[in-house]
Amino acid sequence: MQPVHLTGLSQAELSDFVASLGEPEYRARQIFSAIHARRVMSFDAMTDLPKELRATLVQRTLLSTFKLESRYISTDGTRRYLFKTRDNFPVETVFIPEERRDTICFSSQSGCPLQCTFCLTAQLGLLRNLTAGEIVEQIIFALNDAYGEGVQTPRGTNLVGMGAGEPFLNFDNLMKTIRIMNDTSGLHIVPNRITVSTAGIVPRIRDLATIADRPHLAISLAAPNDELRNELMPINKKWPIEELLSACKEFEKSLKPNEQFTFEYVMLRGVNDSDAQARQLANLLNRHALRAKVNLIPHNPAEPLPYQPSPMERVESFREILESKGVHAFIRRPRGRDIFAACGQLAARSETGLSAAPS
Ligand code: SAH
Repeated sequence: MQPVHLTGLSQAELSDFVASLGEPEYRARQIFSAIHARRVMSFDAMTDLPKELRATLVQRTLLSTFKLESRYISTDGTRRYLFKTRDNFPVETVFIPEERRDTICFSSQSGCPLQCTFCLTAQLGLLRNLTAGEIVEQIIFALNDAYGEGVQTPRGTNLVGMGAGEPFLNFDNLMKTIRIMNDTSGLHIVPNRITVSTAGIVPRIRDLATIADRPHLAISLAAPNDELRNELMPINKKWPIEELLSACKEFEKSLKPNEQFTFEYVMLRGVNDSDAQARQLANLLNRHALRAKVNLIPHNPAEPLPYQPSPMERVESFREILESKGVHAFIRRPRGRDIFAACGQLAARSETGLSAAPS
């Protein structure tokens, strides 16, 4: 019998599981809050449970399934973790401490099936979708590494689904994770503190709009026209810009009064960073009158990607053109570049090189 990964169960599922063991309902609440509120990752430490129950849980279930392969700490404090799943697939998570809050960037897939030419993760191809338990585990692990098991975090936690993989190709597990995060007797990270990023899986953008308690949305655009976007992000051939923006228009109806959504635009030197392209982007967004802002991400270069980052003056001038045409634009400061933790750099790199294939 496969062990049950308790970390990925909602409270309701945990209740069913506990009932199947013939245990009273309140045990489910105890276990849930041990895992998610106190972030306890061993049954030994669940001293409020009777010994026999703990022994049964050890036999039949799992809390932590990852093996930590390596941990890298950047000069800017960012941490990158490279885990292996139980079946040996690589998973990466990035912890980004900031003054007022921490941000955890989690992965939704091992590898990624999309073939964005500027992203290192694409080189792995899709290895597999992660389970909800495996997504939750990344967050618990990062918090425990920063603060210790059972220790209250000193700052709030933001989550971004911007690690490896395309979250909207693992939609159900992603949404389940978000519901578990939101549980008031667990971590209680509300959807308002969570942003998920998609390369543009149009039907799921429409689905997200229908979810009452949903996270914020970011969309990776990278080009102001189909010709260039087809080249940089082949998913554009399936859902071209007009279809993407019309889904965005639909999604817009679900925005709260002060909410916006975000377009991410990776700045590639001499490829998508000209003044003319800035004007084209502004016109495109203005034509659709979207309540969105643009985050300009300086390209994080890495062998063997064929691009260089745009010079900072270029990024700044691109931003100014957008602003002059009424499009709010921000420049994202790269974090953790030195340890391959920045956007687009997650490709299971360890000191020994790529470690992608399960062994
Ligand atoms: N698949 C999703 C989630 C990944 S988010 C998506 O595409 O949105 C990762 C973000 O980093 C995306 O906005 C992507 O455009 C950006 N990115 C990818 N490679 C990059 C690189 N080399 N430098 C800077 N940003 C990059």
